[in-house]
Amino acid sequence: MAVAFCWFCPEPALAAAKIDKKSTAAPKDSRQKKQSDPNQPFVWNRPRSKERENERAQMVNRIRWGYGLDESNILKAMQDVPRHWFVPSNQQSRAYLDSPLPIGFDQTISQPYIVAYMTHVLDLDPNDRVLEIGTGSGYQAAVLNEFTPHVFTIEIIRPLGERATETLKKHGYQSIRVKIGDGYKGWPEAAPFDAIIVTCAPDDIPAPLLEQLRPGGKMIIPVGSRWQGQELILVEKNESGKATRRSVMPVRFVPLIREKD
Ligand code: SAH
Repeated sequence: MAVAFCWFCPEPALAAAKIDKKSTAAPKDSRQKKQSDPNQPFVWNRPRSKERENERAQMVNRIRWGYGLDESNILKAMQDVPRHWFVPSNQQSRAYLDSPLPIGFDQTISQPYIVAYMTHVLDLDPNDRVLEIGTGSGYQAAVLNEFTPHVFTIEIIRPLGERATETLKKHGYQSIRVKIGDGYKGWPEAAPFDAIIVTCAPDDIPAPLLEQLRPGGKMIIPVGSRWQGQELILVEKNESGKATRRSVMPVRFVPLIREKD
């Protein structure tokens, strides 16, 4: 597996792993999730803009041809969500580089390829409830919203959480729920979740997140310390509640911060 790290970026590594399709999504029908309600069509707001669409197309081409992530639903989502909406004004010219970018408070918006890859392994459908830990700019939450209206996201740094809430509201995202707090504890009132995505790295998988994952659900989470190396771990909980974990690629994310008691 070829891996390139971006040691100079403060944030998630340029993990140039090729996609191993067998190692990711389980067949949809093996998950035995709740059935969709035929009386409730899945229509929700997925904001669009033509601004900078050519730059987005180049970004998508890189994800497709550079990394081999050739999944039409993921590529469409990456094409449809305007990343520049979520990037600070001093980074606008870099909004469509395949690179993490600073968003203030020593945090970053993740590299587009990593966003695409992590979304891909969750294999979401419109019934799924998905929890994100680490709202940051709100971009990953907006990409998740392309697949399901049931997006819950937690940010520990209040000004970032508030800014992301405003950005999402301003651009018309109506169903994404943002909470300010310590995502280590998950969101018990909204649990269980069919999918959990963690975009900051704890030393180990937080027990509350594992508990809040529904049987048949998946969690994608970077684990390990910033300087000694992190692995992106895919956790799959079977129908009897047993969780298995396996490493899918080396990565480099900002650390998960704990709330002081
Ligand atoms: N997903 C984000 C990028 C995340 S960077 C995006 O699309 O822009 C990681 C984020 O995790 C940072 O904003 C950081 O403040 C947040 N974070 C770190 N520890 C956290 C915790 N315990 N709970 C919630 N958020 C946390």
